[in-house]
Amino acid sequence: DVNAGFFRKKIKEAIGLRETFIPPGETEMYRLVNAESDGIPGLIVDRYGEVLVIQCLSAGIEFWRDVIVEHLIDLTGIQKIFERSDVEVRKLEGLTERVGPLHGNGFSKQFQMNENGLNFWIDIAQGHKTGFYLDQRRNRAVLRGLVNKRIVLDCFSYSGAFSVSALAGGAEKVISLDSSSEALQICEKNVELNGFSNKDHEIIEGDVFTTLRTFRDKGMSFDAIILDPPKFAPTVALKQRAARGYKDINLLAFKLLRQNGLLFSFSCSGGISSEFFQQIVAGAALDAGVQVRIMDFLSQSPDHPIAINFPEGRYLKGLICHVSG
Ligand code: SAH
Repeated sequence: DVNAGFFRKKIKEAIGLRETFIPPGETEMYRLVNAESDGIPGLIVDRYGEVLVIQCLSAGIEFWRDVIVEHLIDLTGIQKIFERSDVEVRKLEGLTERVGPLHGNGFSKQFQMNENGLNFWIDIAQGHKTGFYLDQRRNRAVLRGLVNKRIVLDCFSYSGAFSVSALAGGAEKVISLDSSSEALQICEKNVELNGFSNKDHEIIEGDVFTTLRTFRDKGMSFDAIILDPPKFAPTVALKQRAARGYKDINLLAFKLLRQNGLLFSFSCSGGISSEFFQQIVAGAALDAGVQVRIMDFLSQSPDHPIAINFPEGRYLKGLICHVSG
């Protein structure tokens, strides 16, 4: 069958690229198929060790789902396939949400996975996305190399992947700030799982917008701040409102940074281009009255490739900003 052959060819190609681009031992979890950018619009496949988690985002993929699953099993040898098709975009295609095992059995509710030598608890059924923010892997490794002896504030920490990386990088103290108490509970478990003490780590449950204002009013300051918010602008239509949100948190973060401080500022909004994001952060620096140098430009890890005819695929933008005076 022509279509079945198409999926097989594309999946095979995607597997080969991961073998080339992910160094052995870097991670047990990564994106195996990245939709449009791997030539299969509407299909996401994430690998968590011996489990594959798939998301079907379009009616076409929904139609071919069983064939795709067969090829995935055959080409990877992995038997456990779990579906996380609980995404808003399915509504546009007239599809309902679906979550559960598709093939194989004996799924653990929660399990540990290694990334950059650190271990994290993963919940493929209830965690965000397919269980983990895989796209930030390389950026966490970069952060780790820059925070020795620093006091770090991880905003929108989720389960603490950046926080644990900061502790591994020798950070003196790390605060994880998130509005989700479930995420923060896992965050504390992840700190201990990696042999760090929750004496050097503090969780704060709260809204980043208001908490950063409270920190400013209390005169608190940090050596490094991570801002990794959820998508403020899923579409271009929400661009202006999103811009105000990014401006606000970046401005507050610049005010909370000490001399020589570092800001790791991200946007995962498809509706915000990298140029626009840089302008917003520049505006925030200006209003905060600080001198800022961009030290590095970050993007998604290479298991999230970007098809050249699909530039929107570059949704994750990051800046490492150095603050002086
Ligand atoms: N940095 C994380 C991923 C962040 S995802 C990682 O590397 O794994 C975004 C997080 O922001 C989610 O955990 C969500 O609970 C949290 N969140 C969303 N809106 C928030 C707000 N206004 N204040 C605080 N946390 C928020």
